[in-house]
Amino acid sequence: MCMPRFNLMFDIGRGSPRLVEIPKILLTHGHLDHSSGVAYHVSQRSLRHLSGPEIYCPPELAGPLTEIMELWSRIEDFRTEYTVIGLEYEKLYPVHGNFFFQPVRTVHRIPSNGYIIIEKTVKLKPEFLHLSGMEIAERKKNENLFYESFLPHVAFSGDTQIEFVLDNEVVRKSKILFLECTYIDNERPVERARKWGHTHLYEIADNAEAFRETQKLVLIHFSPRYRPEQIRAAMKARLPDWLYAKTTAFFTGG
Ligand SMILES: [Zn+2]
Ligand SMILES: [Zn+2]
Repeated sequence: MCMPRFNLMFDIGRGSPRLVEIPKILLTHGHLDHSSGVAYHVSQRSLRHLSGPEIYCPPELAGPLTEIMELWSRIEDFRTEYTVIGLEYEKLYPVHGNFFFQPVRTVHRIPSNGYIIIEKTVKLKPEFLHLSGMEIAERKKNENLFYESFLPHVAFSGDTQIEFVLDNEVVRKSKILFLECTYIDNERPVERARKWGHTHLYEIADNAEAFRETQKLVLIHFSPRYRPEQIRAAMKARLPDWLYAKTTAFFTGG
């Protein structure tokens, strides 16, 4: 999922020449439907004389990913530039200006995390809101009148059980939430989704209250067994009207 505004992408899938300009890859985990385009991306940027990309990933993936990149260097007999960064959780990483990203651990079959894009702003403490500009200018010389506020704009789940939403307030408070929804019907029931570390549409419906503060819910990562019209019909049938109204199905084409 490409975020041109932030000059980064969440996962890379199989890669695409259209993504070559984007210098930051925020990998959620190493499954190939999310990560197999990394080597191609690095190679294409090198051919175009662009900077080596930054590849962020769960810390457990950093070693194996570096090894596989070294192997590709041997296969191609060419040394490319790239940086693999094993993530530290709870840390804020700079994006640009006041925007940062924070990795948040998810529940999947292998080490994985989602990401939150957060805007940091400095605000006047409520007890000083009545002050005039002149008074603020004067008093701030000796007093701390301000506090830092963190506003989550976008959350991206990667692959996860629904606990990513239920256990993390920062996810529930994000304005836009990209959430995986691999299964949508009884043929692949909730237990199966959970066994494979995924989220089922029925769980989203059953936990609808968790999405009250979400302004836009974008469901992704549907099993390729479903057709788009089937997915939209299941969403309409299952989700409460208020939640359905702010929910979109996004198809990445596998
Ligand atoms: Zn996966
Ligand atoms: Zn996946």
